[in-house]
Amino acid sequence: MGELKFLISPESGKRLREDHLYELVIVGGGPAGLTAAVYAARKKLDALLVSVDIGGQTLLTADIENYMGYHYISGEELAAKFEDQVKQYPIDIAVGEEVTSLGKEGNDFVLTTSTGKEVRARAVILATGKRSRPLDVPGERELVGRGVSYCAVCDAPLFAGKEVVVIGAGNSGATAVMDLLKIANRIYVVDVLPDWRADPLLVERIAAAGEKVATFFGHEVVRIEGKDRVTGIVLRPRGGGAEVPLPVQGVFIEIGLIPNSDLAAGFLELNEAGEIVVDCRCRTSVPGVFAAGDVTDVPEKQVIIAAGEGAKAALSAYAYLIGQRR
Ligand SMILES: Cc1cc2nc3c(=O)[nH]c(=O)nc-3n(C[C@H](O)[C@H](O)[C@H](O)COP(=O)(O)OP(=O)(O)OC[C@H]3O[C@@H](n4cnc5c(N)ncnc54)[C@H](O)[C@@H]3O)c2cc1C
Repeated sequence: MGELKFLISPESGKRLREDHLYELVIVGGGPAGLTAAVYAARKKLDALLVSVDIGGQTLLTADIENYMGYHYISGEELAAKFEDQVKQYPIDIAVGEEVTSLGKEGNDFVLTTSTGKEVRARAVILATGKRSRPLDVPGERELVGRGVSYCAVCDAPLFAGKEVVVIGAGNSGATAVMDLLKIANRIYVVDVLPDWRADPLLVERIAAAGEKVATFFGHEVVRIEGKDRVTGIVLRPRGGGAEVPLPVQGVFIEIGLIPNSDLAAGFLELNEAGEIVVDCRCRTSVPGVFAAGDVTDVPEKQVIIAAGEGAKAALSAYAYLIGQRR
């Protein structure tokens, strides 16, 4: 799951009662899970939020310019504001715990964590988000953390004055280029497709940087080279042709995200992309299990959408629990 980042520290955020049947367990501490937690707490549900970290993908985002109420806010700052709001309410929070299984015993849902803890609940919200997709080329796995990165916000400062390559010309790739512009000496951008797929505003800003950014569109990556650290990357034109070696010290892989839905596989209906299928009330294929945010098949993956879906999921879980009480 990459490097763990904590705002609520694992020590202070460790209230998880194993000998207790929660009304609701929310898995995931990104915008969807944190918003669900606030809505659940305001309905006075006996709830637990369990997550690997607090903030999720917002921790990987330098600038957020499209969350209403803020012209500009960094991802980390927004996560801290979300966290502060959740902390106003008396719900249990366990940070630093990865939920590894979800099943049902009688009427109860049972979740287990990577540290061997077992939690029971009458309803569950999965808000586990997405993670970076690997490129799957020779050299990638061996050189992760030694020049290969999936997080420009986290690692860009390590490449001051260096030559770097960003793989992927979508919004994530363009955002990575923006993060690297003030730091790296030269930035190559590689994509198998013939042009940018990023927001025009981002593309315009990158174009304004002039020759510092060179594009290799219509190219694929053959391998990443280096023994102890990255020393280069080798490309090839998509239709065939001579290999193109580029001397780089950093490789930023930004080719999209895959849903963190392993937990739900075999238990809930997933679509072809591995996303959890939900209806407009965030209900999954199993009554009592709800899902929200990037892990679901709801189109468009944005903070404001994840937060909104988190609110809906908590209100739907509340309605479900009320119905069960009758
Ligand atoms: C580089 C980048 C830039 C972006 N820029 C913007 C932007 O400018 N504006 C915008 O609106 N959106 C942006 N986004 C998208 C936005 O960050 C996401 O849409 C949003 O964070 C999704 O929220 P989420 O809560 O659904 O999932 P995530 O943010 O992915 O959170 C998932 C949470 O679940 C936890 N988790 C996962 N699996 C488990 C498990 N098994 N057990 C326990 N916990 C688990 C994770 O630790 C994490 O806390 C960007 C994303 C990236 C990667």
